Amino acid sequence: MSFQNPVFIPGPTNMPESLRKAVDMPTLDHRSPLFGQILHPALDGVKKVLKSETAKIFIFPSTGTGGWETALTNTLSVGDKVLAARNGMFSHRWIDMCQRHGLDVQIVETPWGAGLPADKYEEILKADTNHEIKVVLATHNETATGVRSNIAAVRKALDAAGHPAMLFVDGVSSIASMDFRMDEWGVDIAVTGSQKGFMLPAGLAIVGFSPKAMAALETATLPRTFFDVRDMGNGYANNAYPYTPAVGLLNGLNESVKMLLDEGLENVFTRHHRIAEGVRQAVNAWGLELCAVSKDVQSDTVSAIRTPEGFNATDIVTHAADKYGVAFGVGLGEVAGKVFRIGHLGSLTDVMTLSGIATAEMVMVDLGLDIKLGSGVAAAQEYYRNNAV
Ligand SMILES: *Cc1c(COP(=O)(O)O)cnc(C)c1O
Repeated sequence: MSFQNPVFIPGPTNMPESLRKAVDMPTLDHRSPLFGQILHPALDGVKKVLKSETAKIFIFPSTGTGGWETALTNTLSVGDKVLAARNGMFSHRWIDMCQRHGLDVQIVETPWGAGLPADKYEEILKADTNHEIKVVLATHNETATGVRSNIAAVRKALDAAGHPAMLFVDGVSSIASMDFRMDEWGVDIAVTGSQKGFMLPAGLAIVGFSPKAMAALETATLPRTFFDVRDMGNGYANNAYPYTPAVGLLNGLNESVKMLLDEGLENVFTRHHRIAEGVRQAVNAWGLELCAVSKDVQSDTVSAIRTPEGFNATDIVTHAADKYGVAFGVGLGEVAGKVFRIGHLGSLTDVMTLSGIATAEMVMVDLGLDIKLGSGVAAAQEYYRNNAV
């Protein structure tokens, strides 16, 4: 593997030099006002990225998975009912975590490649006249299948049913790279991590709690210690954590949100869309199909690409790493061996992306797939040339 080439996995993402430097800092007293000067701007910045006026932000030394656990354990009790669709590996793992915590999950099995079934959610919520369902889970971007779901539509389903359930959204591979509107969409808990859209090393779980989610703390009885947001909030008031914070990562996060807001969130989203569209043009030129079943659910942060029947898609990932020192993503769960993934989120340019497309082509030709060298690159070049900013 080469340290020179960009990675094309859907997280951890490529790190800009300025963020690597921001993470690398001398030790400081994490109970001093100096730490507060790092912590508070980072919290404020995350709030802006989530597009929320009212959310309380909590950042744990953990990863996105710890963010899920924070969401569940702070707001729910054993036996509480949760509604969730399973349409990929990440929604599956979140459901699994609910079950391990003794929650009663009503699962809507959804084809891998399809988006969240808002209509089905509405039907189930309408039928739940006693309002037993406490939370609706939604994975905004299924990183396993390259599918972006419509969170506004899920909110509409809740509203149409007049149902008071909370809406928890996994935005680990969407937040800070695709449009996310916590307040407008009525999201009660938003979950993300440091190593995807924020372009940092893994190590932070980042969550936003709405006032309604904060109120749920009063009744929730699931055990929690490390992930107790009340302890965390009390610490913040004194420029501290209930334990030792990951100071360097928080300093990096502070720089990351500055970078994102300087570029402008809408410009960040446009850039991701343009880069993704170039990749999709290449996939089309190769004569291959995306796992995403329709245009409206195609993700701007990761493309899962189906390979021909009888071909092991994982070979592409292995060969790319071995021969060219380039990392692509393997297929996970139900689509293991059937897709390979090109991650295109975080710190990436058109030019970097062309190198990934070119590498994928060399690999597929090496492995005997019927692909013409340069075909995908040319399609993406044409797109980038005509859509440059
Ligand atoms: C990466 C990812 C996660 C898991 O995050 P970790 O930081 O690896 O714990 C969860 N959900 C989605 C959608 C992801 O892409």
